[in-house]
Amino acid sequence: MSRFFSGKYSELEAYTPGEQPQDRKYLKLNTNESPFPTSPKAMKTVENVRPLQLYSDPQCGIIRDKLAEVYGVDRDEIIAVNGSDELLNFTIMAFADEEHPLAFPDITYGFYPVFAALNHVPFEEIPLTEDFKINVDDYKGINKNIIIANPNAPTGIALPLSDIETILKTNPDNVILIDEAYVDFGAESAVGLIHKYDNLIVAQTFSKSRSFAGARLGMGFACRELINDLNTIRFSTNPYNVNSCSMYLGTAILDDEEYTKANCLEIIKNREYTVQQLREMGFEVTDSSANFIFARTPDMDGGELYRKLKDEGVLVRHFFKKERICQYNRISIGTREQMEAFLAAVRKIMGE
Ligand code: PMP
Repeated sequence: MSRFFSGKYSELEAYTPGEQPQDRKYLKLNTNESPFPTSPKAMKTVENVRPLQLYSDPQCGIIRDKLAEVYGVDRDEIIAVNGSDELLNFTIMAFADEEHPLAFPDITYGFYPVFAALNHVPFEEIPLTEDFKINVDDYKGINKNIIIANPNAPTGIALPLSDIETILKTNPDNVILIDEAYVDFGAESAVGLIHKYDNLIVAQTFSKSRSFAGARLGMGFACRELINDLNTIRFSTNPYNVNSCSMYLGTAILDDEEYTKANCLEIIKNREYTVQQLREMGFEVTDSSANFIFARTPDMDGGELYRKLKDEGVLVRHFFKKERICQYNRISIGTREQMEAFLAAVRKIMGE
């Protein structure tokens, strides 16, 4: 830390993104990216991108219009962001403070506590049940702003829409953000509820199901008033938050929904196959509705398995700092070929 770093951040523990090591070629199953290329049809339209000597459209018009069409909502009910992480931060900046603290599960996306700390917002981490489920009773009328990833990460476990409605109804004076980064792999989306609940924000991303992580494009759905507040923060931070390439190509990706849907189906198939194979080897695997699985074996320490896989050239995600889940590893789902290579490495390590 330099002697100039503001004291207001001296306690801040920054988010640690998944490793992107360059020392050798790895089978990368550690950051939940798509194994499939960005829609080739969309990539062919790159020449139509607005000239890059001009700023990007601060209204994000083309992408919001297309999202409105695809999701059946109004353009004013949408915000486009530089990856959905940005929307998480904007939401906390806009709606949370000392008097409006946050709550989220103890086992969830590691960026929530970091954004809370960055913005000096107190937060409560509500324990998941023994089997890593959200007990909806723990969230009834708690009078805090709530963030829930659905499906949750890193467990992959989804929450039914009826439970989300209970949380929305019993906390009418608090903002509830449902983070649907992985929703396209098997969970129910809450986007349709934005017309019913004025305290709901739904965050989604192009990073996973739409093979566009490197372009940083995400979106939020909510009633107009919430979107207006989020835009106040956006225009006070970076009005050109979404660059012209991402905006244009993102729109073209939405013109190729068949490609996205086919890729999601393939990931779901490969997920079910991998889960079944691991269970046959004695692994415990949570029921995932995401593009990753969460698994442990009684026969080897989770950290050791992570290290041995890395030695074999397979990268998975291990959470060394989280005691409750340190026996587990999170494995992103890739192509069938990649999953066969992963399973072969596991079999070799487990001495089968
Ligand atoms: N939410 C969850 C639960 C995630 O796992 C991620 C990806 N790390 C994000 C949000 C952020 O995704 P992006 O910023 O790429 O849209």
